[in-house]
Amino acid sequence: MEPNEQQPDLNADVVIVGGGLVGATLGLALCQGGLTAIIIDAGDPKTALGAEFDGRASSVALASCRMLDQLGVWRDLAPDAQPVTDIVVSDGRVRDGAAPLFLHFDHEEIGEEPLFHMLENRHLRAALQTAVSEAPGLTLLAPQTAETIEYGPQGVRVALGDGRVASARLCVAADGRNSRVRDGAGLKTMGWAYDQWGIVATVAHEEPHGNVAHEYFLPSGPFAILPLTDNRSSLVWTEDKDQTPAFLSMSDHDFNAAMRDRFGPFLGDAQVVGPRWSYPLGLQLAHDYIAPRLALVGDAAHAIHPIAGQGFNMGLRDVAALSEVLIDAARLGLDIGATDVLARYQTWRRFDNVMLAGVTDVLNRLFSNDIGPLRVVRGLGLGLVNQIGPLRRFFMSQAGGASGDLPRLLRGEPL
Ligand SMILES: Cc1cc2nc3c(=O)[nH]c(=O)nc-3n(C[C@H](O)[C@H](O)[C@H](O)COP(=O)(O)OP(=O)(O)OC[C@H]3O[C@@H](n4cnc5c(N)ncnc54)[C@H](O)[C@@H]3O)c2cc1C
Repeated sequence: MEPNEQQPDLNADVVIVGGGLVGATLGLALCQGGLTAIIIDAGDPKTALGAEFDGRASSVALASCRMLDQLGVWRDLAPDAQPVTDIVVSDGRVRDGAAPLFLHFDHEEIGEEPLFHMLENRHLRAALQTAVSEAPGLTLLAPQTAETIEYGPQGVRVALGDGRVASARLCVAADGRNSRVRDGAGLKTMGWAYDQWGIVATVAHEEPHGNVAHEYFLPSGPFAILPLTDNRSSLVWTEDKDQTPAFLSMSDHDFNAAMRDRFGPFLGDAQVVGPRWSYPLGLQLAHDYIAPRLALVGDAAHAIHPIAGQGFNMGLRDVAALSEVLIDAARLGLDIGATDVLARYQTWRRFDNVMLAGVTDVLNRLFSNDIGPLRVVRGLGLGLVNQIGPLRRFFMSQAGGASGDLPRLLRGEPL
């Protein structure tokens, strides 16, 4: 330490900036493997649990459920998790009376387990907060900001908003798509904004959804109806960005009418319950996931279109890979912030994330329009996948997140 350097007030193996769904899970994983961690989050944890904070629900792939179980979070989540056994994809024109184009994924084709579970983000946040507060070796500082971060040859020093200093051997940026930590370290991104926003709302309906998720492809983008507990569904309604403000400012009566027009009558009377939320949509990929003594995870590394419900699942795969790499290095007595250790993480995750981001981009472009020839192509594509059993099963197991070189946590094994 330099003579005038301030002694750190707090010290851990890893400092994680961002305690959202991904950062919190990383903290739990590291501590399960015997490392210590400090999570710094700018938001107030109590606000993050409020009904107005985040109306989204997430599709949680089977491998992600196994990981959350291994980390001791699933037992709190299970009562609120809605299993989804079938996905029905249809071209919006079905409802206009044109030739129906359907794609049906049925879990029975690949096994007895559901395809995935739907969980409201408020439940995910609550269960993670409880687990974080109980995890030995894990400290949550929130609301708190990371003002400056110094990356040195032996470790990092983070100056906190309250004047204290936290030190660690490694910093992880889990501070979301607008990551200040990533940008501050000079890690570049590429990507583009879509001319679309995602409107999110919860709908209560008369008839049971039967555990079936629906995705309609409308000219403005995908309109997903995702089953929740208690005869409710979560809507992810992709809308043209210029039209979105009008939908958000409509009276409840008019918004319900617009919703029902798209939703259709198949679940009986349907009514929006609670507020509406909206999210700008875009694709953003960091070129590099690592820099000296820094790694990126979750949306800080890759933010994608929600068309396939994979953003959080990708973040969990980052967490599973990074925690395994770091814990294995620590057990061998290696420096967990060393570049060759971090390079193993980058190699493991970057290619998969780029591929999935590319697939979601192509799907969104192909399906978010009403151009005749593209309708024909996507109709042929849907029809082809629906006809060919092995192709259908391939897509279902990909969505389950259990393919490829899986880290231990995603296999449901301890670190
Ligand atoms: C409409 C929509 C639907 C979606 N549906 C699904 C789905 O069904 N399935 C799925 O897998 N994914 C889905 N996603 C994607 C998923 O929500 C995100 O990928 C996921 O929430 C990213 O989590 P994160 O923790 O990386 O980032 P964030 O959730 O953005 O969390 C970042 C955290 O960092 C904190 N922070 C930010 N800046 C600072 C700072 N300077 N200092 C300290 N803290 C800071 C914030 O307070 C926040 O807590 C959806 C996304 C959208 C928009």
